[in-house]
Amino acid sequence: MISNSLRGVPIAVLPDSVSKRIAAGEVIERPASVVRELIDNSLDAGAEAVEVEYRGGGLDSLRVRDTGWGMSREDLEKCHLPHATSKIRSLDDLDRSRTLGFRGEALSSIAAVAELEIVSFREGDDSGNRILLRGGAVTTLDSVPANRGTSVDVRRLFADFPARRRFLGRARGEATAIRNTLLDKAIPFPDVRFTLSSESRKILTLPPSSLVRRVSQAFGQSVREEMFQEISGSGDGFSLTVVAGHPELFRRDRRLIQVFVNRRRVWEFRLMQAVEYAYTDVLHGGLYPVASLFLDIDPDKADFNIHPAKREVRLRTAGEIHHRIVELLRAHLHAYTVKHVSLDRELTFPPSATGGTPSLGYSPEPTKGKIPFFAPHESPAGGYKPEPLQPHSVPTQPDDSPTDLTFVGFLFETFIIVQRSDRVYIIDQHAAHERILYDRFRESRASQPLLIPEEFEVTEDQDASLSRVSSEYRSLGIVIERREPRRWAVASAPPEYRENLEDLIETILELGGLEEAWDRRFLAELACKAAVKGGDRVDSGSALKLAHTTLNLPVPRCPHGRPLWVELDRNDLLRLIGRL
Ligand code: ADP
Ligand code: MG
Repeated sequence: MISNSLRGVPIAVLPDSVSKRIAAGEVIERPASVVRELIDNSLDAGAEAVEVEYRGGGLDSLRVRDTGWGMSREDLEKCHLPHATSKIRSLDDLDRSRTLGFRGEALSSIAAVAELEIVSFREGDDSGNRILLRGGAVTTLDSVPANRGTSVDVRRLFADFPARRRFLGRARGEATAIRNTLLDKAIPFPDVRFTLSSESRKILTLPPSSLVRRVSQAFGQSVREEMFQEISGSGDGFSLTVVAGHPELFRRDRRLIQVFVNRRRVWEFRLMQAVEYAYTDVLHGGLYPVASLFLDIDPDKADFNIHPAKREVRLRTAGEIHHRIVELLRAHLHAYTVKHVSLDRELTFPPSATGGTPSLGYSPEPTKGKIPFFAPHESPAGGYKPEPLQPHSVPTQPDDSPTDLTFVGFLFETFIIVQRSDRVYIIDQHAAHERILYDRFRESRASQPLLIPEEFEVTEDQDASLSRVSSEYRSLGIVIERREPRRWAVASAPPEYRENLEDLIETILELGGLEEAWDRRFLAELACKAAVKGGDRVDSGSALKLAHTTLNLPVPRCPHGRPLWVELDRNDLLRLIGRL
């Protein structure tokens, strides 16, 4: 909850000199903006519970009720005036203010486009009071019995503004926007109870809870709380909390990288990027994490007075914050690798293998929740090439260091089994090889000309698109040149790519370039193509080498975030068959 220091401060109209310097602009664009402003007011009033109810997508009626400290009769008379606020008195106050609102404009803007009824009861007063506003003018002000707190009813929103009403989406779209707005408000206030209902149907109930639970509840039933971990850190004048999703939880867009600054959801690209960047070791190839970042910063280091709805913020120490986020998350993700399968938990790894509720990341279908997550590994466009029948020799690191592993065997033509003293490792041969290649491709950018350039034919469309994007490949050390119409050649490439030229060309033709994060995706696709597949036969010497390299990887996850191996020890096995 917001600090109590504002309790009892009376409302005053800001002088012109102050109001002129506050970011101007329309704040009430649709029903969800009303919800946003009213919830802000409830939270600023220290409410422990906030109830939102609406009909007809919020256009017919909309009510926000809270258990905050309420308003006196005098405040009620003033609260709807332009620039009337109890939260700041001067521009300097902005540098100290931690309230969500400060412009004194929300209620007056709502009153200008709707009928407004506010009932409020301030603790210690004899009774509650009610004010009714129509067309911006007060029609009623009287005493009424009321519960502690404030209830704001908004009716006939934009009824006298047919152009605006036409512009709005259908009721269903507005309902979705209301729900999302409420979630954006509820996530950073986990100790406040929120409910949302419409036409006597409960849509959401969020009881007071921990931050992690609130985040996972906001994402719907399909996301288990265990998929998140809360981590915190701090820096000069700021502190950070990240509710970090497990790498197996991901999306193909950035929508679930949420950033909150001083408990306001903001679209701060640099901070989102910091989170995304920290995850690249465990998630790449066009996959984005699910994570909520909460930055709490001294108000004088963050300027919210640049956007009327405060969706943007200017941070004075953005660089340092960025750095700290990456550092904090990286350290966390590094330790976040599942290494041991505990048989006490009934071989629940991978989580979906036991059936039941499909867990995220493993379930290709969007489950009950509305947020679609995707399978970690869908086969790339074009599918795999026919499997060669002869044993595959696996080029791994030029690493011939002695190994203490013993080769045990292959399983289901998919896994390599090795043993080290009383431990057994079951390794996914494709995923492991893919990871090793990905790391190698990523690290080698030193281009070397090919003695004989590798030529390839392309279609007319591919010819045109390659002409557009070919120069981008230089950043990966790959030089491709157009020889004649519809005929291209790889002229130069890092040595690591040599043995995979065919895969390289195929990947270039499939992926092109230009789209965002294409280079990471490119490398992931290339590694996937070039790696041995499940079903490929591998010779035992290569298998052992692959196992050795894999078990020594700093990040034992495939480029899609899945673990590369599981480990069992002797006792696990004895316990499994009841001998221990
Ligand atoms: P702002 O929030 O920027 O101050 P508003 O127009 O939203 O401007 O509200 C004006 C004033 O009305 C607030 O400063 C606050 O004092 C009072 N107020 C509004 N809503 C509530 C509420 N739910 N509980 C208590 N006071 C409220
Ligand atoms: Mg407000």
